[in-house]
Amino acid sequence: MTQADGFDPDSVPFERGHYIGGKVVDDAGEHLTVARPSDLIPYADLPQGTADTVDRAVASARHALDSSGWGRQAPRERARAMRRWADLIEKHQEELGKLEALGSTRPISQAVGGDVASVAEGIRFFSEWADKLGGDVAATRSNDLGMILSEPYGVVGAITPWNFPLSMASWKAGPALAAGNAIVLKPSELTPFSTVRLAQLAVEAGIPAGIFNVVHGSGPVTGEAISRHPGIAKVSFTGSTRTGVAVMKAAAESGVKPVTLELGGKSPQLVFADADLERAADCIAGSMLANAGQACVAGSRLIVERSAEEPLVRLLRQKLAGAAAGHTWKASTNYAPIISETQARRIDRILRDSLAQGAECIIGGQRIDGYGGAYYQPTLLTNVDAATAAVREEIFGPVLTIQAFDTEEEGLALADHPEYGLAAGVYTRDLGRAMRAMRAIQAGTVWINRYSRTLDFILPTGGYKSSGIGKDLGRQAVEQNLRHKTVLLNIGADMPAR
Ligand code: NDP
Repeated sequence: MTQADGFDPDSVPFERGHYIGGKVVDDAGEHLTVARPSDLIPYADLPQGTADTVDRAVASARHALDSSGWGRQAPRERARAMRRWADLIEKHQEELGKLEALGSTRPISQAVGGDVASVAEGIRFFSEWADKLGGDVAATRSNDLGMILSEPYGVVGAITPWNFPLSMASWKAGPALAAGNAIVLKPSELTPFSTVRLAQLAVEAGIPAGIFNVVHGSGPVTGEAISRHPGIAKVSFTGSTRTGVAVMKAAAESGVKPVTLELGGKSPQLVFADADLERAADCIAGSMLANAGQACVAGSRLIVERSAEEPLVRLLRQKLAGAAAGHTWKASTNYAPIISETQARRIDRILRDSLAQGAECIIGGQRIDGYGGAYYQPTLLTNVDAATAAVREEIFGPVLTIQAFDTEEEGLALADHPEYGLAAGVYTRDLGRAMRAMRAIQAGTVWINRYSRTLDFILPTGGYKSSGIGKDLGRQAVEQNLRHKTVLLNIGADMPAR
């Protein structure tokens, strides 16, 4: 295979063990089999971390904090180490991109220049906060000095999903480390290997061994052990709402630790008839095609003013035809496989239920065969309402439902989802209407005449309602990795007034 064709998936080197205290370590016990999402061929065994493994990782993180002074050193030293880490990520961009494309749904054409490049820049963004959030001096009587000190938690835990493994790991590790914490992170058992390489590069960059640890294993065993560990002071999770509830419960039952939860979504795309429909169609199709809809912010409910429905569907039909499915290691692939057969069956089930409820499929609706993995056509469903399974449930696949409205009020009511509030798109040329929609929509992010995140890491992301608690990215992500100590110091007699 030439470089122009992509890369040979059997030629990518990677470590198979946990990464604890700066060393790759394996457990003698149970192993899980990991398959390549592109063709579902098993390619590696993964150690199933136990509560003991998590214990070792937490002890190593604690030791690293105590012995290296990571949390106590001059913050600019931390920032410098993190900048070196970002530089190394860029230096290894090709290698990391291949590893990501091998083991996840990310096509190589997007993994190298998109995911890995943005991970490096995101680490730089977080490094810049290291010396910017030290605390405040409070307004008190002049014979006292009141201070609010920002301090790291110590060891924080993180659990990441399979849809963007490297990005998700960097969104957790970046702010945690910038704030002076150590981290114990469990990647999804479906996409585990690139995260270890990310942690190794941190150590190569001079971040002390033990500050970034990776423990592999399944959610209910290893993830649960992280959520419950008494030595972990805070947990940050991204994944389904159901698992988020389990993480929150375990964290509460084991000592009331704070949790940050980035959970599911069922985000509306609200299109008014006065919008630039060509642009709206680009954004809506782009959101469906990106990672084949396997994104928490996927805009999966199209809510369109009735007079624009027909032209918009015509445009979407054209734009969705550009999906080039294929193995993630082929340079020509731009459309991702579904992560697993389990996930593809979930999409099948929601589609079947929706059709049985009266939905009509006007584009797609079938699997794409011929690659060995599970691939799904971009799919449009019409004749749906709030009770239809595809409108109600997060699908995490390339399925878009279409509902039409006649008045602004009706459109805004349809945009509201009873459970989720992660993101929303609004398309209109009427500024007043855009502002009314922005205020009315119950979601953590509202995009107007665009859809999707940019490299503006300063913008936080997170949900309203059951879509989550707290934020990833932005200043908020670093603040959530700090706790606050109030200090009141008596400095002597009242000062004479001047
Ligand atoms: P999960 O929420 O189950 O998985 C996310 C992470 O949580 C993984 O690392 C998983 O580990 C871990 N986990 C699972 N169970 C527990 C537990 N009891 N305690 C602690 N950690 C746990 O998502 P799935 O992979 O099962 O996907 C199911 C659905 O979730 C998708 O169809 C989609 O709707 C939604 N989802 C949403 C995401 C988002 O970004 N908001 C991301 C991924 C999924 P492991 O994978 O090893 O089991």
